[in-house]
Amino acid sequence: MSISGSLERLRAANTRAVLTLLAGEGPMSRADLARGTGLSRTTVSSLVTALMATGQVSETTARGKPHKGGSGRPPVLVTLSAPSGCVAGVDIGHRHIRVAAADRTGRILAEEATDLDVDAHGPGALDRAAHMVRSALRTAGLPRGDLRAVGMCVPAPLDRRSSRISTGILPGWRDLPPGDELERRLGVPVFADNDANVGALAELNHGAARGMLDVVFVKLSSGLGAGIVLGGRLHRGTSGIAGEIGHVQVGEDGQVCRCGNRGCLETVVAAPRLIGLLQPAYDEELSTELVRALDSAGDAGVRRVLSDAGRAVGRALADLCNSLNPEGVVVGGSLGPSPSLLEGIRASIDRYAQPDVAASVTVAAGQLGDRAEITGTVALAVAGVAARVPA
Ligand SMILES: [Zn+2]
Repeated sequence: MSISGSLERLRAANTRAVLTLLAGEGPMSRADLARGTGLSRTTVSSLVTALMATGQVSETTARGKPHKGGSGRPPVLVTLSAPSGCVAGVDIGHRHIRVAAADRTGRILAEEATDLDVDAHGPGALDRAAHMVRSALRTAGLPRGDLRAVGMCVPAPLDRRSSRISTGILPGWRDLPPGDELERRLGVPVFADNDANVGALAELNHGAARGMLDVVFVKLSSGLGAGIVLGGRLHRGTSGIAGEIGHVQVGEDGQVCRCGNRGCLETVVAAPRLIGLLQPAYDEELSTELVRALDSAGDAGVRRVLSDAGRAVGRALADLCNSLNPEGVVVGGSLGPSPSLLEGIRASIDRYAQPDVAASVTVAAGQLGDRAEITGTVALAVAGVAARVPA
C-alpha cells in the first residue's frame, strides 16, 4: 500500500475516534479530545478544522462538562452538529387535524390543531393540513426549505399498494391517496399510515409499550382499530391493513357498518354508539371526556356500558392473543383509559384466551392519550428521513 494511502486510512480512523468520543461524551475542548483519543493536540486541531469545514462539528461555549482546573473564560468546546433539516407530523382524525413541527431528532417545537369534519371533505382537509404545516414551521422558526419529510395518519385503513383509503370508510376521500396528495401540496416526501399503526409506534417508542417486542395497540374512539407490533416492528400486512379488529363480525344480522358489512364490532363499541346508549339516561350532554369522568367517579350506568364494550372488544382480542401471544395489549383512543373498559377487556381475555396466553399478557391503558397519533407521525417522519437520507 502507498504511504499516502496509509496516511489517509490513519486520518479516517482518527476522525472516527474524535466523532465517536463526541457522540458518547458530548461537547469537549480540543485538549480533552486529545486526552480522550490519545492523539496529539496538533492532530486533533487539524481534524476539528476539517470537520468544521464539512459541517459535521461546530464550536460552542454553552454546554459540556465543567472544564477541569483553570479560571476565567469557559473554553471553546467542540460539539457534533445537530442533524440538519426538520420534519413535521400530521394527525388527521374524523373530527380534527393536528400538526407538529419538529427537529430531525423528533423534538416537537410547535403544534397547531383545528376541529373539522374531515370524513366528508378530503381535498379541503389536505389543503388545511398543508397550510397548518407551513404555519407551524413559521411558529417554530424553521425555514420551510429545511423540511425533509412529513409523517401522516388517517383514521381509516390505508392500502399500501394503491396508497388509497379502503372504499366507504371515509366517503370524502374516494380515489384520493392522502400521502401522495399531501406530498404534492408540500413538495417533500410524506409517509402515511393509519391512526392505530402510528399510535402503536408512539406507545412503543415513548409510552406504555416501551421495551415490549410483541404488543397489540387498540384504539377506541369514533372507530375501533389495532396496530400490531411483532418482534419490535409494526406488522402492516401484505397491503397495509392488518389489525382491523373493528370489522370482526360479532352479529350476522347486526347494524350495517360503514365498511359495507353487517354486525361489525365497531358498530357495537365505537364511542358515538356508546354515548348514544347512555344519553337518554342523563340530563347533560355527554362527551367522551364526561363519560370517562363518570366512569372514574363510579357511575353505575357508565360502568355497565363501558364494561360491556370492554368485554366485546376483549372477546375479539382473546382470539388475536391466541394467534399472536403478545406481551401487552395497550388501549388508547378517547375511551382507552376508562377503568371499566380495561376491566372488561381483561375479563374477556382471561375467559376466552388460552390460559397460558392470558397469563402472559398485560392489559394497560396507553400513556400518550390523544397525543399518541401526533407523536407517532413525527416518529414516522424521523424514521423516513433516516431510511432515505444518509446521516
Ligand atoms: Zn365494518
